[in-house]
Amino acid sequence: MPRTADPSASPTRAAPAKKPAQSPARQAMLKLGLRRDIDLALHVPLRYEDETRIRRIADTRSGETVQIEGTVVHNDIALHPRRQLKVLLDDGSDTVELRFFTFYPSHRKALAEGTRVRVRGEMRGGFIARQMLHPTFRPADAPLPAGLTPVYPASAQLPQAYLRKAVLAGLARADLSETLPSGADPYPPGPGMPGQNGPAPAWNLRDALSFLHYPAPDVALAALEDRSHPAWRRLKAEELLAQQLSQLEAKRARDGLRAPLLRAAPDAASLPAQLLAVLPFDLTGAQRRVVEEIARDLARPADGRDGETSGDAGGAVPMHRLLQGDVGAGKTIVAALAACICIDAGWQCALMAPTEILAEQHFQKLVGWLAPLLAARGLQVAWLTGSQKKKERAAALEAVAGGAAALVVGTHAVIQDQVVFRNLALAVIDEQHRFGVAQRLALRGKLRAQIGGRTGEPHLLMMTATPIPRTLAMSYYADLDVSTIDELPPGRTPIVTRIVADSRRDEVVARIGSQLAQGRQVYWVCPLIEESEAVDLTNATQTWQDLQEALPGVPVGLLHSRMPTAEKKAVMAEFAAGKTGVLVSTTVIEVGVDVPNASLMVIEHAERFGLSQLHQLRGRVGRGAAASACVLLYATNEGGRVSETARERLRAMVETNDGFEIARRDLEIRGPGEFLGARQSGAALLRFADLATDDDLLAWARDLAPRMLDRDPDLAQRHIGRWLGGKAEYLKA
Ligand code: ADP
Ligand code: MG
Repeated sequence: MPRTADPSASPTRAAPAKKPAQSPARQAMLKLGLRRDIDLALHVPLRYEDETRIRRIADTRSGETVQIEGTVVHNDIALHPRRQLKVLLDDGSDTVELRFFTFYPSHRKALAEGTRVRVRGEMRGGFIARQMLHPTFRPADAPLPAGLTPVYPASAQLPQAYLRKAVLAGLARADLSETLPSGADPYPPGPGMPGQNGPAPAWNLRDALSFLHYPAPDVALAALEDRSHPAWRRLKAEELLAQQLSQLEAKRARDGLRAPLLRAAPDAASLPAQLLAVLPFDLTGAQRRVVEEIARDLARPADGRDGETSGDAGGAVPMHRLLQGDVGAGKTIVAALAACICIDAGWQCALMAPTEILAEQHFQKLVGWLAPLLAARGLQVAWLTGSQKKKERAAALEAVAGGAAALVVGTHAVIQDQVVFRNLALAVIDEQHRFGVAQRLALRGKLRAQIGGRTGEPHLLMMTATPIPRTLAMSYYADLDVSTIDELPPGRTPIVTRIVADSRRDEVVARIGSQLAQGRQVYWVCPLIEESEAVDLTNATQTWQDLQEALPGVPVGLLHSRMPTAEKKAVMAEFAAGKTGVLVSTTVIEVGVDVPNASLMVIEHAERFGLSQLHQLRGRVGRGAAASACVLLYATNEGGRVSETARERLRAMVETNDGFEIARRDLEIRGPGEFLGARQSGAALLRFADLATDDDLLAWARDLAPRMLDRDPDLAQRHIGRWLGGKAEYLKA
C-alpha cells in the first residue's frame, strides 16, 4: 500500500533549530501536543483516584480499589509457586496480604516489620484471606488530599507528578476568557446532576477546567467518568464549535475562489449525450441523480455575490463534492460524464487514482468509452505515471500542456510540478481516503488562472467506496457536499460470504475447481504484513505453487507489489482477458479492479485485514451476472484463538453486504480516530466530544458557527486558535 509523506501532518518539524536540548520529560510533553499554556490547561485528567479517605480493612469488599493504612506485621520472600515478596499489613480491624512479584531490596526495607504505611490498590478475596497485588505504598500519616487526585494521560518518559505540575501551572497562566458570543443560544444543558432538579446550568470555561483539574471532594465520580458532568459538557461544546468554525472558515475561503463555469449542453451532439448513447447499459436512477447534482455544481454561477458582474465570465463557485457509493455501484461512469461536461465546455479534466493498477483500469475504460468521441474533436486521453518511459512521458506532458489531452488519467504523477495543464477545470480523485491533504492541495493548485478577477481553482470531485457515517460526515466533513449512489446496477446477485478455518483449505480448492469448470474466474488474496514484505512474498508465491499443483492444467497468475509495473500490467491483462483462471495476489488488487467474470474471492488470513479492506476486496466479485461468493479463510494463533475484534469483523462480513452498514460497524469497532486515519484525512480529531452521544451539542455548534463567523469574526478566530492552534490548517483541504 503506498504510504505518501504528508508534510502538513507533522507540525513538530517546524521547531526552531537552535533551541537548547529539551529534557526527556519536556520532549514527551511536546509529543503529546502540549506546547502552549492553553494546551496544558486543556489536558484534562483521564480519571481520578480517591485518596481522600482511609478505609478500614474490615469494611472493604473484593474488587474495590481502596486506600488503607496499617502496620507491617510480617515480611518475607516466598519461592513457591513463584518468587514473590509477601507482606502482611494489620490496621487493627483486620489484615491483608500484599504481594509483589517484581521487587527490589528497597521494597523490603520500606515495608520492614513494624513500619506504618499507607497502601492503595485493589482488594481481592473475602474475609478469610484478603490480598492486594502490587499495590502502591508510601509512608503513613501524611495529610490526606482534600479532593480527588487527577490522573493525566501521560507516557513512559513523563512522570505524573511532573506533568501535573506543568498542567496546573499552564492552567494558572492560560487565557481562558469567554469566547462564546454573549447573545448566542446557550449550548444544550446536560441531563443534570444526580440529586438536582432540572437541567444543570452551563459552566464557563475557567470554572469547568478548574473543576476538572481540582475536582471537589464530594463530586460524583461517575459523572466525571462518563463525561456527563456540566464541566465536561462545556468542553465538548467548545470543541465542537471550534471544529465547525474552522471547517466553515475553510469553506468560505474556498467560496472566495473561482472555478470555470461549466454548463452542460442539452443537445444530442454534446459529449455527455454521445457517451450515454454508446454505453452498453442505462444509468441507474441513483447514477442519474448524482450526475445531475454534479452538473448543477459545475454550473453554479458565482454572480450576485459581492456585487460581481453576472454571466459566465464571472466563473463558478468551485465544487467540493464527495461521491460515495459502495464497491461496484458505478462511480467511474459518473466521473466520466462529469469529465464530458468539462471537456465540452472547452476545459481539461484530470483523474487521479492511488495505485497504478487502478489508474490503468480507469484509463482503459475511459479510453474505450471516450477516445473515439474525443478523436472526432481532435482531442485525446493522456496517461501519466511514474513508471512511464521518458519519451512517452514527454509526449504526454506536451499534450497536457498544449491542451490536446482533454482528459488526463494517472497516479500521483498527475500532480508533479512538471505537469502543467493548459486549462484544468475539473479534478477527480478516486479512492480519496488513500490520498493525503498535500496531494489534494497540489491538485487544486494546478489551475493557474484568474477567473472573474479571483484566484482560479478547479472543481474537485472526490470518490470513495468507504461511505462516511452520517454523524462523522456532519462533523468532520461539514464543508463537503456529499452525493451518494445508493443503488447497485441491476442484475447483481448478492455475494454469499463464508468463514472457513484454514484447516479446510482443501475444500476451498475443490470449490475453486468447480467455479473454473463453469467458466468463472477466482481471486485468491494473501495478506500484506507491512513489517515484512519478504514474508508476504513467500506466502503468496507458496500459495501460487500449491494452487498450480492442486489445479493441473489451470493457468494461475501471480501478482504482488514487488513486481515491475509492466509485469503487473501483463498479469492483470491476462486475468481480465480470461486467460488465467485463478489470480493469486497480495492486496494490490484491493481497490477498484473490475473483472466481471470473477465469481469467487478467497481471502487468506482474513483475520488480519481491516473491515473496510475486506469489504473492498469482496467487492471485486459479484460484478457480473453470476452468483458470487467470498470465502474468508482464517488461521488461529498458537493459543487456537482469533482475537475478539477480528471475530467481530468476520461476523460483520457474513452478516451484511451493505457498505454503509459495514462502515457503521467499522466505526463502532475502531472509533473515529482510526476510522478516519488522522494522517490521511487530515481531520483534527475530537478529544472530548463523542459523536455517538453528543449529537445535540454538534447540532448546536453547527447552528451557531455561521452566525458567529458573520457577527463576531474576531471572537471566532480566538476560539479557533485556542482549540486548534496550528492544527486548523489540516482542515482546509
Ligand atoms: P465502483 O463504483 O466500484 O468504482 P465501477 O465504476 O467500477 O464501480 O463499476 C462497476 C461495474 O459496473 C463496471 O463494470 C461498470 O461498467 C458497471 N456499471 C456501472 N454502471 C452500470 C449500470 N448502470 N448498469 C450496468 N452496469 C454498470
Ligand atoms: Mg472505482
